[in-house]
Amino acid sequence: MNQIENIYFFVMLVSVIITIISLRYAITIKRYLERFTLVSKKVSNKELHARLNISAKGELGELTNNFNSMIENMSDTIEEVEYKHLQLKSILKSISHGILAIDINGNILLINDEAKKIIKSDSNQIVEGKNIAYAIKEEKILKVISKFRGSNTNETTKIIMDDETVYKIKVDPVYLQNTVNVIIGSIINIEDITEKVKLENMRSDFVANVTHELKTPLTSISGFVETLKLNENIDPSTRSRFLGIIESESDRLKRLIDDILLLSSIENTESRVLEKINLYNTFNEVKEMLSFIAKSKDIEFKYEFEDESLCVESNRDYIKQVFLNLTENAIKYTPDHGEVKVIVSSNDEDIFINVIDNGIGIPKDDIQRIFERFYRVDKARSRDVGGTGLGLAITKHIIKSLHGKIEVKSELNKGSEFIVTIPKKIS
Ligand code: ADP
Repeated sequence: MNQIENIYFFVMLVSVIITIISLRYAITIKRYLERFTLVSKKVSNKELHARLNISAKGELGELTNNFNSMIENMSDTIEEVEYKHLQLKSILKSISHGILAIDINGNILLINDEAKKIIKSDSNQIVEGKNIAYAIKEEKILKVISKFRGSNTNETTKIIMDDETVYKIKVDPVYLQNTVNVIIGSIINIEDITEKVKLENMRSDFVANVTHELKTPLTSISGFVETLKLNENIDPSTRSRFLGIIESESDRLKRLIDDILLLSSIENTESRVLEKINLYNTFNEVKEMLSFIAKSKDIEFKYEFEDESLCVESNRDYIKQVFLNLTENAIKYTPDHGEVKVIVSSNDEDIFINVIDNGIGIPKDDIQRIFERFYRVDKARSRDVGGTGLGLAITKHIIKSLHGKIEVKSELNKGSEFIVTIPKKIS
């Protein structure tokens, strides 16, 4: 009986021990699962620094290590992807063109801010994932992109918007990696070329104008030379009249070529040599040159310098050219017995040159255009007074290169005032 009791007691003891061990194990597993749940929750909330902090041995220990190194790998990968995404976003943002990537169905995969502006989409709105048909609010752009979407060749086209903005749209196919014929979408590059087109047009207009301006005196010269050659017995007075015309047309050609060269040199000078130019001395050189024509027209030529030591940082000859063009125009376009006045003053930052006349004045509609190359209010009059139509264009370019500005006040038959403002120091 005693032996049976002992066995019974032993079985009971073993059962209790097993139960205790099982309970402890169950509690450990429960705690582990609780921590596991907590950490995995943190990880899913993007708290990638969270780790399982359990010192367990055996399979639990291995599971902990595997779990931690899985989070570590994931965190590294996410960091790398985020960095690459940020890099891509920064690159896209810094591209001045509009960039748009779409899939084969026209859904937007990627877009930069410039492209968003161009397609008139709301800048706060997320357009990634949307179809171009809904995202692109500019009808003309949508038409071009829809036409070339999925094309297997590089397509380029130019479109002019209603507000006269000109866009160059380039659509390139995107191939599936390692294939040459499976197209998965397109990359669209939209460039605003309005200024470029304007410049190209200006350049070709300029060439056409120059050709025309040079052709007129040349035709006249060759005509009179031909006449003189064919009529050897021409009377001396007619001969000298013809030679006089040839001489004045040659002078005109020379003036034109000089002005064209000067204009192009101002436009092309990138590294300008700046010196301190004394305004009073420079003006005096111009006054010497112009006094004769002023006197011949009995024009009162006055000037006023607030400070004769006033200097401006400029290129050699630029300030002289400004004085010369404006004062010569004032004298040219003022009838006999008129008055021309040059006033030079300054404040702490700027120099002001005012050239005032009481001449023919400029019609309101022409004021904005007189700075254009070869623009003349009255072509015949300008030609009669030896004008090339380039003087004010040259003046404006010089003033622009000195970071200044030029304004005009004028009233027809009353007179004009040109006001030049140039900073004393050019930074
Ligand atoms: P131009 O060689 O014909 O004088 P500019 O470029 O110097 O060319 O001037 C352009 C045009 O502006 C002139 O043809 C003239 O019609 C007008 N203009 C310029 N200055 C004056 C002025 N002081 N008074 C009236 N018209 C002027």
